[in-house]
Amino acid sequence: MNYLKQFPDKDGYFGKYGGAYVSEELLREMKKIESAYYSISKSHEFISELRSIRKHFQGRPTPVYFCKNLSNKTGGRIYLKREDLNHSGAHKLNHCMGEVLLAKYMGKKKVLAETGAGQHGVALATAAAYFGIECEIHMGEVDIAKQHPNVVRMKLLGANVIPVTSGQKTLKEAVDSAFEVYLKDPNNSLYCIGSVVGPHPFPMMVRDFQHIVGIEARDQFFEMTGEMPDAVTACVGGGSNAMGIFSGFISDEDIALFGVEPSGRSLQLGDHACSLTYGKEGVLHGMKTYLLTDEKGEPAPVYSIASGLDYPGSGPEHSMLKDTGRVTYVTANDKECLEAFFKLSRYEGIIPALESSHAVAFGMRYAKENPKKSILINLSGRGDKDIDFVVENYGIGDEYFNDL
Ligand SMILES: *Cc1c(COP(=O)(O)O)cnc(C)c1O
Repeated sequence: MNYLKQFPDKDGYFGKYGGAYVSEELLREMKKIESAYYSISKSHEFISELRSIRKHFQGRPTPVYFCKNLSNKTGGRIYLKREDLNHSGAHKLNHCMGEVLLAKYMGKKKVLAETGAGQHGVALATAAAYFGIECEIHMGEVDIAKQHPNVVRMKLLGANVIPVTSGQKTLKEAVDSAFEVYLKDPNNSLYCIGSVVGPHPFPMMVRDFQHIVGIEARDQFFEMTGEMPDAVTACVGGGSNAMGIFSGFISDEDIALFGVEPSGRSLQLGDHACSLTYGKEGVLHGMKTYLLTDEKGEPAPVYSIASGLDYPGSGPEHSMLKDTGRVTYVTANDKECLEAFFKLSRYEGIIPALESSHAVAFGMRYAKENPKKSILINLSGRGDKDIDFVVENYGIGDEYFNDL
């Protein structure tokens, strides 16, 4: 059976992961969204409107690009799927346009969401502006300080940005805060989750809206090379860009899939966000999945140089794919991420997001170890949002180019 139809099952499970571990009140809303999604998203009208948006507003298809210079340095053949060229600079607009289009068909007046790096907030604010729908974004104070340009962008796009001051003041608390507000008026609003996480049906819907990345990449790679890639890789925060590209290749058992988690500044709890690599099964934000927890079983503090990756869990589908072994989960730390950031910038003229740089770091490692093979990296976003932070803290990376 077709993989996407097989998973999740009718109760929203990917194997034993996923589901909807929420209050009865919220479960009722999730069921409404699920049935609306099943009927609306299959309609000809919805499909053709989304297709037109992808082409004329988002600028899709984004290209697949061969990194000639970087490949020469590493050996192997490195290719990028250029989601950094998707309108608004990252893959997230793919699911936001889908979610807000669904909100429009459901007759909602407002969308709301959490954001970490600010990328989801910007993407949702962009989609809301396109559809003329009100938009409210909850964001941890720490992230607000770190991602100032994205906060300004959201405001320019007309969104209302709500600072969240509890706990670690990052993504996890922002999710809690946004859910709380949503439940006060679910009839007129739609909660738009920013990744393949949360209760069913969100991991499925977001994956389906990101599937376009995998469909395009598969055709483009074949057209360009006459073959399929040996490996495909993407960074994993919640896991949406990874599911987008993986879903295009998942039925080809001989194509290796690698999800890259951020191992941060050390492997001590609190210094990384490798929930699939070092976590264990638990429930967070309405889903059963691999989680990083402390001694008390509470979600652990997490860290990555890339704020879009610092989340203590990841999507339930990834948990299943880890257990079945269909996807191999690997790690890249801050240092490897920075090296990839500087090298892709200087060798190829492409400044990647710090999130995406984790996937580039693994791609370079794979290429060095497999000089005869090809690897396709999902370049999930562009690095403009990160350049001030990188240069202030790490300079411009001259030390990586002593061989020039
Ligand atoms: C948010 C973000 C990510 C992480 O989210 P996923 O759901 O894991 O894809 C990765 N890259 C960029 C550029 C992002 O903005």
